[in-house]
Amino acid sequence: MTQITSTVDFDQDGKQVGWLRVPHSVTRSAYGVLPIPVAVLRNGDGAKLMLSAGNHGDEYEGQVVLTRLIQQLEASDIRGTLIILPALNLPAVLAATRVSPLDTGNLNRVFPGDPNGGPTWKIADYIEHTLMPKVDVVADFHGGGASLDYRPHASTHYSPDASDEHKKKSLEIVTKLGVPHVMVFERRNKTEGFPDAAIRQGVISIGGEYGGTGSVFRPGVQLVQTAVERLLAVLGIKGELPANLPEPQLLHIPVPKSHVYAPEPGVFEPATELGDAVREGDLCGHVLFPENPTREPVPVTFSTYGDVVCKRHPGRVEAGDCVAHLAAPWPQGG
Ligand SMILES: [Zn+2]
Repeated sequence: MTQITSTVDFDQDGKQVGWLRVPHSVTRSAYGVLPIPVAVLRNGDGAKLMLSAGNHGDEYEGQVVLTRLIQQLEASDIRGTLIILPALNLPAVLAATRVSPLDTGNLNRVFPGDPNGGPTWKIADYIEHTLMPKVDVVADFHGGGASLDYRPHASTHYSPDASDEHKKKSLEIVTKLGVPHVMVFERRNKTEGFPDAAIRQGVISIGGEYGGTGSVFRPGVQLVQTAVERLLAVLGIKGELPANLPEPQLLHIPVPKSHVYAPEPGVFEPATELGDAVREGDLCGHVLFPENPTREPVPVTFSTYGDVVCKRHPGRVEAGDCVAHLAAPWPQGG
């Protein structure tokens, strides 16, 4: 049983903005709680959607859009139910870090969580077992965080074993969000992510990466804003979809060969820009050694083809840091 309590009533009509209280009793605050902000807007029957950001604390485009949405939207504007969480892993959001400073938990890697675990595990358990069963669709907005930069994309995750109807609905929704690139993830043998929790709960899972570098990427904010508006429209919660929407490009990420890693410590000088199309064997960049300047740079190459959709942001690398990853057309050969 969860130890998290809520100050909002998820079954009540109207607009409520309150807190999920995660028990966190420490020396400076016996009986203390971590107050995770939550808004619930409900207006009768209709689709039920949960919007979240701040799963990783250093990814901001979703945090900006959802914070504004809570201020702007009234229950009378919508039909159905909207749950909005702009700062999902609150300790990470406040620390501007990917993982929680309290328990080093990476919220997107600890599902299904643990009601008796550290704060991050408690939050994951509550999301999967209390919040997800209340909705039909979840949309969790990400970016590259401090260490990565992304060409923005929307995404959907589903199990290869999902019904044709579930797959069709997932693709129908994600291709109408106004994001020119869409990543399709068929998740098998994965358990730990937010999308895996959604898959277990039978909920349609929408996501995406909308920027990175630990900054607020303005075009990414605009894309999240559009994606949220379209999501509300396509689910019949608010507004109408524009006519004649362009078809986005569908992509996937063939893991692990799409990812390129630094072979040793140094300064990584990239040889590509986001959006470049590359082939197997093409140069991704060089590791240079300013601390030992006569040493030859080490070339790093791509081991498959695709578009460069993600690049490392800081110049200094350790061995094993991801310096880039690719995405290829989906379905394969498409
Ligand atoms: Zn993220």
